[in-house]
Amino acid sequence: MSLLRFEEARATVFERVRETARRPAVEHVPLDSSLGRVLAQDIHADRNYPPFNRSARDGFAVISSDVANVPATLEVLGETRAGEPSRFSLQAGQTVEIMTGAPGPENSDAVVMVEYSERTGESVTLHRSIAPGRNLIPAGTEVQQGDRVLVSGTRIGYPAIALLGTVGCADVPVFRRPEVAILSTGDEVLPVDAQPESYQIRNSNAHSLAAQVRRRGGVPRILPVAKDQLDETRRLVEDGLRSDLLLLSGGVSMGKHDLVEGVLGGLGAEIFFTRVRIQPGKPLVFCRVGDTPVFGLPGNPLSTMVTFEVFASIAVDLLGGARSSNLRFQKATLASAYRHKPVLTRFLGARLHGEYSNALVRLHKGEGSGDVTAFAQADCLMVATEGRAKWSAGDLIDVMRL
Ligand code: AMP
Ligand code: MG
Repeated sequence: MSLLRFEEARATVFERVRETARRPAVEHVPLDSSLGRVLAQDIHADRNYPPFNRSARDGFAVISSDVANVPATLEVLGETRAGEPSRFSLQAGQTVEIMTGAPGPENSDAVVMVEYSERTGESVTLHRSIAPGRNLIPAGTEVQQGDRVLVSGTRIGYPAIALLGTVGCADVPVFRRPEVAILSTGDEVLPVDAQPESYQIRNSNAHSLAAQVRRRGGVPRILPVAKDQLDETRRLVEDGLRSDLLLLSGGVSMGKHDLVEGVLGGLGAEIFFTRVRIQPGKPLVFCRVGDTPVFGLPGNPLSTMVTFEVFASIAVDLLGGARSSNLRFQKATLASAYRHKPVLTRFLGARLHGEYSNALVRLHKGEGSGDVTAFAQADCLMVATEGRAKWSAGDLIDVMRL
């Protein structure tokens, strides 16, 4: 089987997961619990927005032609506050004092800011002319009643929450979260609350994966660790296949006791790839058993985290009903020169300094080795692409925030 490039492998995951992903069940959650969930229906405007001709400033609502020549003195009919209906209609030479968020009087087409006014009893002198439409937003110019304002499959962020709140969607239709089974393998792997012997390690992968799954909107289901033993591994894999997605960690290399590929094959898996030209994470199994996608992630903790982030995350998104699944790259300026053998795409733990597009990226000591201690200090992955061998200090390079 060919060794796929990073982009090809991502495309394969998209395509294959889409083939069998069913539309998830729909549930309703209160608006304040909808952050990060995936919208399960299109949302339409319940009325025009703005719903009335809305003042964007504190000032005087005018007929703009009345202030073509300034100063202009106008008769003040009264005041409209936010939260009140407009009780006025302007004739030439008249104005209404108005507050931000209040409806403009009939015939008004602009609001002169209070800063440019001088009030004397029943009249006001305005010192600024104004173009029609300024500071007074006509009803229905943002959106018309019935227009679609959000599309099903959108991941709900705080701007969408603002919009859902605006249109009165207090109970938000969202897709059920996908359940993701997590199965760690390895004779040396113990639960995190165990006291390991010198030759044993704790199962950190199950927990970093659970966190990554949760962050993508999935519900993790951590299975007991599978010993490197055929029957037990097969039994636990079968259990894991009852979830929407199964993630395995470890046991995918070429070692004598790396059983995952064999077990999956024995269960009739359709294998899409077993290796990708990336580091960390070169041995990486992606397959499907029945309709259930399965990833055999390499056991090295850094490889597990990176391969989840760049591949398995796509499956969590799509199985959760999301329309898209994008990695968020940004460009950063390299603090010092970097070179690699341009035969695969490398992801290296690094830190960003500064927050603009010219943020400096500094590689962490250990340069993205399997070192969890170093990686825990990183706040981004620097991405050295396959086709390029050298970067100088000051060059731009892609980074992904963690
Ligand atoms: P493997 O992919 O099974 O060959 O494992 C590669 C390396 O990752 C080995 O050093 C394992 O001990 C380590 N490893 C495997 N599974 C886990 C796990 N669940 N948590 C932490 N480290 C692991
Ligand atoms: Mg192993």
